[in-house]
Amino acid sequence: MRIYNTLTRKKEEFVPIDEKEIKVYVCGPTVYNYFHIGNARPFVVFDTLRKYLEYRGYNVKYVQNFTDVDDKIIKRAKEEGIQASEVSEKYIEEYFKDAEALNVKHATLHPRVTENMTDIICFIERLIEKGYAYEVDGDIYYNTAKFSEYGKLSRQNMQELDSGARIEVDTRKRNPMDFALWKAQKSDDEISWKSPWGKGRPGWHIECSVMSTKFLGETIDIHAGGQDLIFPHHENEIAQSEALTGKPLANYWMHNEFINIDNEKMSKSKGNFFMVRDILKEYDPEVVRLFLISGHYRSPINFSRELIMQAKNSLARLNNAKTNMEHYLNTAKDFELLPEESAKLKGILRHKERFCEAMEDDLNTADAVSVVFELVRDINTSVTDKSSKAFVQELYRLFTELVGVLGLLQKEEIQEVDESVLILVEERQQARKEKNFKRADEIRDELKAKGITLEDTSQGVRIIKSGH
Ligand code: AMP
Ligand code: ZN
Repeated sequence: MRIYNTLTRKKEEFVPIDEKEIKVYVCGPTVYNYFHIGNARPFVVFDTLRKYLEYRGYNVKYVQNFTDVDDKIIKRAKEEGIQASEVSEKYIEEYFKDAEALNVKHATLHPRVTENMTDIICFIERLIEKGYAYEVDGDIYYNTAKFSEYGKLSRQNMQELDSGARIEVDTRKRNPMDFALWKAQKSDDEISWKSPWGKGRPGWHIECSVMSTKFLGETIDIHAGGQDLIFPHHENEIAQSEALTGKPLANYWMHNEFINIDNEKMSKSKGNFFMVRDILKEYDPEVVRLFLISGHYRSPINFSRELIMQAKNSLARLNNAKTNMEHYLNTAKDFELLPEESAKLKGILRHKERFCEAMEDDLNTADAVSVVFELVRDINTSVTDKSSKAFVQELYRLFTELVGVLGLLQKEEIQEVDESVLILVEERQQARKEKNFKRADEIRDELKAKGITLEDTSQGVRIIKSGH
């Protein structure tokens, strides 16, 4: 596989440190709100990378943190008159609901800042000992001048960086680029932990250095996140970790481009965002996932309803192909492959290689998705009621394998449905007949809240349950 490495600005052959287990760290959300579709991009993209690596037989140890101490969390807690931990607990739970809906697998570990405070303090102490950090009135700053490679990830030199940062000069810092590793408590009611420098809490960047090292080791294979993290977050992580270990923090740095609105980054601070939670009220989560992987992760996407509608139509085509094959599997008369099918099958199965080539070219999910649609076209033209079961089975297997790697069509149709669900479905059919669409929609929403989706097809209603 070739991966574009932000550190070298080149596509490089991916060579794992340990063939038995690939180690990946993805910067996770700051949990003070639901996540928006821009945040969903790294979660889904790097989950797809993981799914692909696992498909190719690798074990992947995948760590995605929760930033559960932060100014925004504290602000929100103050506004609502609750504890910061209540805010973060709530949005961690909500993260899992949306991520699961998008078929994002749980990480191997989801460590939190608050659970790793001893390690964070210890890491900072070691940086102070080595001269890479200094104290000013209970705050600890990283001494950027001491780390000669500072700026290597974002390709900026210290002079440029310094003059940029000088605008908001903090006289307590030795150097304008120095950043906080530890922040002293400002008021008694502010959440804090005891440390050798008094009560306080960690700065943002230190957590990822600590958790990446603690759970994955000093040098890991892949460290990833959105491209706004290149500077300062990942630059600072490198400074912190590499100063201590003298080894690379990660061999490959991957960054996804933004989801924009009118060519501007979607962000909570600008207020131009769409929560995944709200989009899911209108669209099937798999539509959203398909939308997110239909572009290459290093190309920006301008968010629009039109693109989501395209994804919706595309997903319907995938669903149709699947349902058709299932129909022919149930009705095929011949079991054995027919002579004229052999050559055809061989040709169609080549799509698998093409799919893998796309995925191995720096995770080109856009091309991989196109290959799947070529496969669908071939399936639609070659599967008929005269096809043998063996032929359809082979195509079905390939199709489900590839869409599975992309994390699509993961919902299972319910075989056994609760009596109460059936009664509601029946009532909805009746309401629709009577053109009482209000009631019909109510029932659909009620079932949706239970994780059950209804799909109206020409053969009747399909009852689908979210599953993984
Ligand atoms: P945050 O919760 O703000 O730390 O963001 C979580 C992840 O979402 C990080 O990897 C960010 O880089 C990423 N991210 C934030 N906004 C966008 C956006 N508009 N498009 C793509 N990724 C984003
Ligand atoms: Zn991070």
